[in-house]
Amino acid sequence: MVRVLACGVCRTDLHILDGELPLRRAGLVPGHEIVGRVVARGPQAQRFAIGERIGIPWLGQACGNCPFCAMTRENLCDQPLFTGYDRDGGFAEYAAADERFCFALPDRYDDAHAAPLLCAGLIGFRAWRLAGEAQPRRLGLYGFGAAAHIICQIAVAQGQAVHAFTRAGDTAGQVFARSLGAIWAGGSDEKPPEPLDAALIFAPVGALVPAALAATRKGGTVVCAGIHMSTIPAFDYGLLWGERVLRSVANLTRADGESFFRTVAAMTLKTHVQAFPLRDANAAVQALREGRVQGAVVLLP
Ligand SMILES: [Zn+2]
Ligand SMILES: [Zn+2]
Repeated sequence: MVRVLACGVCRTDLHILDGELPLRRAGLVPGHEIVGRVVARGPQAQRFAIGERIGIPWLGQACGNCPFCAMTRENLCDQPLFTGYDRDGGFAEYAAADERFCFALPDRYDDAHAAPLLCAGLIGFRAWRLAGEAQPRRLGLYGFGAAAHIICQIAVAQGQAVHAFTRAGDTAGQVFARSLGAIWAGGSDEKPPEPLDAALIFAPVGALVPAALAATRKGGTVVCAGIHMSTIPAFDYGLLWGERVLRSVANLTRADGESFFRTVAAMTLKTHVQAFPLRDANAAVQALREGRVQGAVVLLP
């Protein structure tokens, strides 16, 4: 059990609150980007010491027995338990977790700035790596919110040319993207100056799928990184032709998390957060819903 120090607000929380994902039980406490300090341990819990700061992510438990767990794809587990969905999450003063699915956190990030790493960062990182099979040099990010602002910095540090796509007319978002190293920023209705090698779609907007395919070169990959998306409009086969790959990314594995936290421990990543006190959770959720936040929304008990 941890005392919650900070908890990020993720778009998935909105999908749950807005009924776009079916509610699995009543009286749910959302929140799956939890930074907490261990205050109590069950009799068999030994991995983290009392007083240690840890992170609790979306994947709260995987069964360990299903075919997906057996092939090291526990992110696709048939019997998963998700934090803030199947289990109570971090919009709270205390939260309980299975220690096997928690992470040690790098010291260089304070509580509020570490919180968005636990989903926006982690699942964004998995999406980025899945696009990496095509060895992208020119990377497109559609939807420049919490995840993209983290992945942009990691991609730039790897020498990739990041192209950021925001809502049409969101010049503040485009300036924000350039300030984090994007070499180009524009509206999602615009074509990049050169075709992309790969694109990650973080915004839950199905119309971005044909837009991203149209902006991506032959053999390139488009990754849909969200858990929910509005209906994808019909599009001409020519957009997929040429061995373009269209895929989704689902959840995370513990190996993703270990690799991600090793990566961000070794670099200076600046997460931009807007913090709200826990009692203003509804206002925080609404700010995210209306897209009024640059970077990530975080709740502080
Ligand atoms: Zn399983
Ligand atoms: Zn999330």
